[in-house]
Parts: sequence; C-alpha cells; structure tokens
Amino acid sequence: MTPRSIPKRYRPAPDTLAGRVILITGASDGLGRATALLAAECGADLVLLGRNAKKLEAVADEIEKKGGKAPALHAMDFASATWPDYLALAHTLADKYGRLDGLLHNAGILGDRSPLLHYDVATWQQVMTVNVTAPFMLTRACLGLLGQSEDASVVFVSSGVGRKGYAHWGAYSVSKFALEGLSQILAEETAENTHIRANALNPGGVRTAMRAAAFPGEDRDRLPTPEDIAPAFIWMLGESSKGHTGETFDAQ
Ligand code: NDP
Repeated sequence: MTPRSIPKRYRPAPDTLAGRVILITGASDGLGRATALLAAECGADLVLLGRNAKKLEAVADEIEKKGGKAPALHAMDFASATWPDYLALAHTLADKYGRLDGLLHNAGILGDRSPLLHYDVATWQQVMTVNVTAPFMLTRACLGLLGQSEDASVVFVSSGVGRKGYAHWGAYSVSKFALEGLSQILAEETAENTHIRANALNPGGVRTAMRAAAFPGEDRDRLPTPEDIAPAFIWMLGESSKGHTGETFDAQ
C-alpha cells in the first residue's frame, strides 16, 4: 500500500478537538506526551494512559498550567495487563463519557536490535505483548464506545520498518507490520454501518528516547522534535482525516 502524506503545513486550530473524547496510550513521554499537550490546547477531553503514574501526573500538571482541561489519567502496564484490566478501563470510560471519539495507539517498546539468531525470546514476547496484543485488546474493549461516536478515529502508530523488513529490527519490525494489518482489518470490519475509521501513521525519525536507543550514534539535533510532529497526530485524530480509513500515512 502506498503511504499517504499529511498536509505539511497543517497546524490545528484551538477548537480542532473541542468536544472530542480522546484516549492516548504512551502519553507519558515522547510523541504521546507532545500529542497530549497539543490535543489539550485543541480542546480535547483527554484520557492519558501510561505505565508510570508519576510521569502521567507531570504531563497533566503541564496541561493544567497552560490552562487546558484536566485530563483523566489511567496507569496501566501493557506488559502485564490482563483482559479484565482492559474491560475495567472501558467500563470507566463508559461511565464517565459514554463514548470515545479518538483512540491513539502510540505506546511501544523497541526490544532488541539484534539478528534473529540471537534475538532474546522473552524480549520478543514482551515486544509483541506491548506493541500488538495490547492495542488489539484495547481496541476490542473500546469498540462499543467508539461505536457511540459520530466520528471515531482509531490511529495505530507504525514505522517505516512496519512496511519493509530490515536486518536486526526483529520483533519491533514484526510488531509494526502487525499493527498495519490490524488497522486494515479494523477498517474493513467497521467500513459499513459504523462511524469508525482506522488508519496507521508512521511518524518518521523523531527526537525521542526510543529513537536514541535505536540509533545511539546519531546526531539528535538533526531530527524533528515530538512537538514538530504532534500536529500530524492531531490531523489523524480530528475531523481533518474524516473519510480516510484502511490507509497508512507518513507524518514526514
Ligand atoms: P518513547 O520511548 O519516547 O515513548 C514511548 C511511550 O510508550 C512512553 O510513554 C512509554 O512509557 C510508553 N510505554 C512503553 N512501554 C509501555 C508499557 N508496557 N505499558 C504502557 N506504556 C508503555 O517513544 P516514542 O515517543 O519515540 O514512540 C512513540 C511511538 O512512535 C511508538 O509506537 C514508536 O514505535 C513509534 N515510532 C517512533 C519513532 C521515532 O523516531 N521516535 C519512529 C517510528 C515510530 P514510559 O514513559 O513509562 O517509558
């Protein structure tokens, strides 16, 4: 599938996400954190999910200091969460909001950068749990809530190595191929009789902790910051991407 581009100079307006309930995973750092801050500026009702409660609280403090609405915080570790945990989260959201207008599957881990011959099996399983099984379970648990929205956008954060395999990218690459597939399956299954759309988004190289771990020798100053890329995430989550489903996008 040929990736689509997001309008390069897109900048959201302060009301772009007004009235929309949006759940962001991996909101404690990197791209998820930057997207949460911008989504709050754009008026979203946010639910921020991460494994570290203190880091999530710091993001919430920052949002409130800038005058944004206090987000709901949900600490959950995808490496150990079980199906009842996902159902409990969905019930909490149902009680509080009754619907979900955006679901950003952004949390992820890199795992090992090593050849398959030496790839640690436990690490492989952990990457697949966090990067693939968690987004599946979260989507499944939230499908009813997404169905209550008049325009729900589900976004799976992918990668260039989720479209072509390269040596030493192991489970991470395979997990991103899986997310591209999950996105397409969800798009087909929701194409008729729902207002749900599902797409994948490759942010490209961005100056975050994960990128530094993947490319330790790289000159970080040459990379865009998470704040540079966050508008593309907002484009995917808001009305601008209405009409697109089952597609894959490049943020850069
Ligand atoms: P970061 O490592 O900066 O952030 C990852 C986020 O995921 C953090 O909030 C982290 O929490 C959270 N997370 C990790 N493990 C778990 C877990 N077990 N349970 C719940 N949350 C967890 O990465 P990026 O911001 O760079 O990456 C964001 C997304 O973008 C990922 O899906 C990544 O694969 C993708 N991507 C990034 C690229 C880049 O160049 N940066 C390029 C292509 C794709 P904590 O704060 O506790 O660590």
